[in-house]
Amino acid sequence: MRKLVGTMVVGCCLGAAVLCGTASGAGIVTHAWMADDARAYVEHPALRALLDANRAQLRSGAVYPDSGYVVSNRPGGDYGEEAHWPRFVEGYVARIRARTDCGDLQSPTGPCAPEIAHLLGAAAHGMGDESWDWLMEPASVDHGETYAPASASSIFGTGGTEAQMDMIAIGRHHRPTSPVPPLPSIPDLLGAYADIGRPDVLAQPQVEGNAFSGGQLSAERALAALHAGPVAAAMPWSATHMIVGPGGVRWAAKAIAGSFDSIWGRLLGAPIPARVANVHPAEGQVGLPTTGWTHDVGPGTRTGAATTRIVAALSDSPPFRRVTTDATPIPALPAGAMTLAQVGPGDSETVVPARSGFPRLVPYGPDAGEHLLDLQPASDLEPCTTYRVRVTANLVDAAGAPFVPKTWTFRTGTGAGGAACPDDPPLTEELDPLSAPYEEIAEPHVDPPVVDPPLVVPPVVDPPVTKPPKTDPPVVCRTTSVRVAVRVPRGATKVAVTSRVSGGRAVKLRIEKGSVTVPLSRTGKKTKVTLTARVSRRTRTATRTLPSCTTKTKATSLVVTAPKAKKKGKR
Ligand SMILES: [Zn+2]
Repeated sequence: MRKLVGTMVVGCCLGAAVLCGTASGAGIVTHAWMADDARAYVEHPALRALLDANRAQLRSGAVYPDSGYVVSNRPGGDYGEEAHWPRFVEGYVARIRARTDCGDLQSPTGPCAPEIAHLLGAAAHGMGDESWDWLMEPASVDHGETYAPASASSIFGTGGTEAQMDMIAIGRHHRPTSPVPPLPSIPDLLGAYADIGRPDVLAQPQVEGNAFSGGQLSAERALAALHAGPVAAAMPWSATHMIVGPGGVRWAAKAIAGSFDSIWGRLLGAPIPARVANVHPAEGQVGLPTTGWTHDVGPGTRTGAATTRIVAALSDSPPFRRVTTDATPIPALPAGAMTLAQVGPGDSETVVPARSGFPRLVPYGPDAGEHLLDLQPASDLEPCTTYRVRVTANLVDAAGAPFVPKTWTFRTGTGAGGAACPDDPPLTEELDPLSAPYEEIAEPHVDPPVVDPPLVVPPVVDPPVTKPPKTDPPVVCRTTSVRVAVRVPRGATKVAVTSRVSGGRAVKLRIEKGSVTVPLSRTGKKTKVTLTARVSRRTRTATRTLPSCTTKTKATSLVVTAPKAKKKGKR
């Protein structure tokens, strides 16, 4: 959008976006949606088949014009505005037609089919902006709806609703945000720009701009996760009418399809007559307001008064300046190109005078071509009255050929709200498909992961726990055992010898040949040796404490003696 230049810095530091800090247009998800939906309305089956087979490039073309705003300050990067309009589209058409390697242009799998889809996507963008700016955004104003939180003022302003409705397109309608493919033919794009007087446009900025679009799509997905719900809450009418509302996705898609058919005809060298591709108010619409028709009308969110605009979307632009350097004045619209009449009894007609300056091409200016023709009456309309609009063969396209005449009617209701007349059919307001209730994003996240270098965390090294080593007491001698003689009286039973190093456990020793081998402490401790024996029905013990490192082996013995006999009966 030209009017949005500089108003939206997409959260480019989110996700995989590139070129941080640059400004961008908005609404690219909605643009891609409009172009994709237009496939259903084209009249040429071969064209539809080609678009069906090349949707990625169709979508890429639909985001291409806004990519130029991102790089407009770079040398050779000022192509965004130009890429929006029929002058560029015609240059692009001529370049594809001049190719000798395309084979059958109608082949959905032909070598030039992706480029044709890209061309049509770019054309769809321009028509989409015209539709949205002239009808949808003013309708948001009419409903008093904005979403411009201070915390995200760099993303959501009050100058448009594209970024806001992209949140709905992603969050509610699950429109894709996957990256776009590379530009199909840089040489043809450069050639097209050169042909229309823009040899200043270079290749590299286009490549970078296209790459940025992929990053912006990813960023918008991230933003939608945060903002889709708040946008739906702040802009309920817009959020539920971005498809079916005037200038919305469906309206634009039908208008775009008309331009697709015309471009297709020129591409094949068989132009078809230009026609009216869509209208507002809709054919047969009832309940139009009687007042508000003299309200100022302008593009975007400046004026409102969307309902009281009489608009024809043209499949082809009326005359425009085909080369930027051509100073030839653009001819004025022919008299009677678009008329309004009040229908009376017997289908009689009374001409309704047009406001000064109308009909005229809108929203911006005819210099590079545009598609919307608007007529405003000089005064408000009568209640419950049928009006007939005509786009006549007086209107000619850029080649000077007359338009196919188009006639349609609408009917007013009563008052400013267009309340129903007694003989009106019952009105049912159409809401967007899938419009309620609001659903969180269900589409799996398909953006490539942002791969940061692995975070290197130095290992946490605890200082070593310094326990004093468990050292044995120093060895002070080499002697390990000593032989101790064991003497017990004849008839003794339960003879046992134990030894216990001081502070340790008692160990039973084996008696061999009247002696035991007592292990001794080598670390300075004493060893106690105990002999027990049952003698004369009494337990007798003898002990001996041995020093460590003893060498007194010969002098060591344990002796148990028999108790002295006692007199019988004195127990
Ligand atoms: Zn745009």
